[in-house]
Amino acid sequence: MLTSNMTNPEPEMIAYETLYQVAVSSRKFEVALNYYIKFAEADKAFFDELKTKYLAFQLAQHKAVEQKVQIELLNKQNKLLKASQRLADSETENNRLFMALLIMVISLLAIAAIRSNRNQKRLKHLAEHDSLTQIYNRGHFTSAAQDAMQACQINQDDISCILFDLDKFKTINDNYGHACGDWVLKTVARTCKSIGRKNDIFARLGGEEFCIILSRCDANTAMKIAEDYRKAIEAIDSAPSGNTFPITASFGVTDSRLSGYSLEALTGHADNAMYLAKDTGRNQVCSYRDVVAADDSNSVII
Ligand code: GH3
Ligand code: MG
Ligand code: MG
Repeated sequence: MLTSNMTNPEPEMIAYETLYQVAVSSRKFEVALNYYIKFAEADKAFFDELKTKYLAFQLAQHKAVEQKVQIELLNKQNKLLKASQRLADSETENNRLFMALLIMVISLLAIAAIRSNRNQKRLKHLAEHDSLTQIYNRGHFTSAAQDAMQACQINQDDISCILFDLDKFKTINDNYGHACGDWVLKTVARTCKSIGRKNDIFARLGGEEFCIILSRCDANTAMKIAEDYRKAIEAIDSAPSGNTFPITASFGVTDSRLSGYSLEALTGHADNAMYLAKDTGRNQVCSYRDVVAADDSNSVII
């Protein structure tokens, strides 16, 4: 008898079949039947094993297909994730570009605004200031002085006018040249500006003629201030111009009590006082009161 614990039933099956055929040919039918039964059992075992193997194979195949499908699915998911990552990256990049563009546009607008503001200030300065002395020109003086007079009239404050003209300025030009005359004009303007009050309206009316409007200031105070200006001009050292010569000016002063709140009258009367200073020796300060007094004494003589 063959051992039944053989792992492969195929040789067992072949052996029993051979034994069966031998038994049949030897006409030992009982033995042949036994072998045939054994052969049938071995055949069944062989068939079962084949079926198990086939099933195992099919299962493995199925699993392989399943794994392949899963891998494909994972690949697709991976591709999808990569695509969405790329989308997110490009969105971030777009946002970054947009922000950079926005910052650039805002910066350009800010620079344009700053430049335009600077240009406006520059143009305003050019329109309001005398190019040689950098103090107010006649045009701006007129509007600023009128505003100041109106404000003082409303509050019934005193307002004064100091007008001065450089003495024998033509001689300086003639003797030392126009450039030296320009140096004198600039130096006089700088000197007077440095001693004036912040709210004073100081302007070059033309040539070598200057004017100062002083709000909330009466003629007596303005006379003292004019005297300070006169001394300051007289004290200017002409040596830096390359020449040595005296610099003096004649001053005329009036205020709203003497001349009223009309700019024309105020500057006109200060001019009259300035001419009185010229006529009576130059390098001095005269008040419009002196002009009126001189006129009165003249009319008394007549
Ligand atoms: P007075 O004491 O009577 O005022 O005599 P003056 O010589 O100062 O007056 P005058 O009116 O005879 O001369 C003024 C001169 O000022 C004449 C003109 O050429 C000169 N002048 C006017 N504007 C300028 C300027 O911008 N620069 C220079 N250098 N000279 C100027
Ligand atoms: Mg003069
Ligand atoms: Mg003059």
